[in-house]
Amino acid sequence: MFKRRLRVITAVALAISSISISAMADEVNVYSARKEALIKPILDQFSEQSGIKVNLITGKADALISRMKTEGKFSPADVLVTTDVGRLHRAKSQGLLQPISSDVLEASISANLRDGNGEWFALTKRARPIMYVPERVNASELSSVDELADEKWKGRVCIRSSSNIYNQSMVASLIEQQGSRKTQAWLNNFVKSFARPPKGGDRDQIKAAVAGVCDIAIANSYYLAGMLVSNDESEREVAKKVKVFWPSQDGRGAHVNISGAGVAKHAPNADAAKKLIEFMVTKQAQEWYAKHNQEYPVIDGVDWSPELLGFGEFKGENVRLQRLGELNADAVKLMDKAGWR
Ligand code: FE
Repeated sequence: MFKRRLRVITAVALAISSISISAMADEVNVYSARKEALIKPILDQFSEQSGIKVNLITGKADALISRMKTEGKFSPADVLVTTDVGRLHRAKSQGLLQPISSDVLEASISANLRDGNGEWFALTKRARPIMYVPERVNASELSSVDELADEKWKGRVCIRSSSNIYNQSMVASLIEQQGSRKTQAWLNNFVKSFARPPKGGDRDQIKAAVAGVCDIAIANSYYLAGMLVSNDESEREVAKKVKVFWPSQDGRGAHVNISGAGVAKHAPNADAAKKLIEFMVTKQAQEWYAKHNQEYPVIDGVDWSPELLGFGEFKGENVRLQRLGELNADAVKLMDKAGWR
């Protein structure tokens, strides 16, 4: 409101004199869980086109969320960017975001990929498929993540810890689609398929599969795509030895998560914040952002990266992602009960 009033005053002042403009320069403060190299260039393009300066602070999502909480109404944060819906919902449930109504965002981003109250919006989609080593696994043996709990896969699957939000969101999505009881039963057997106590990140699961520790890895697609274009030749070699299998294509589809953003509750520059998020779903921004992060765009008509094209098209889960946040605590409880460390 204050900003809008300022702008009216600016317009009036402009008629009289142009001196006031420089003092009124817009800016926006972004708290980003996305690393600088993966977001700064597109924020620079936004600044160039809008004249709005972007101040970027990067850090771990939970650290940024607690920082916003500590700063309270004096927080300079305007936009929070995270790489998992679970964290966006966490920020929302702690009262750190504000509802935004935007025709642009509502028209561009399908309803299941944004918060029902307009407190966060997806900027990219990411999938969590099955990855397998063709030397040891035939694609015809695979069908869904559900079946990885079968006796046949005992000791053959690598997946990271249950403290990881990607896994929590994946389990929350199962709870949403098939209920707690069925998900618990699946989890109890799925943990028996683990080749080792969970450790490392998604890339480590892929590397372990190629090294023979396991035959199957569960990992987000952009990790494998990133390895395929890595500067490190050994990483490229490892990545080439793994194939993507899209699970549940006759059923619910592969698990899909998002990276996204919301406007901070106490944003000093809420108008600029909204403009920035709207810019992020333009074709120009989606092309750069999705490609450089090896993720899937949220709008139609944007090319995928060559690596993602190589993984092929797939059917993704059709779940209101807000539910993944709401069911996060339940998911953690079930994973714990199953002994997923
Ligand atoms: Fe990641």
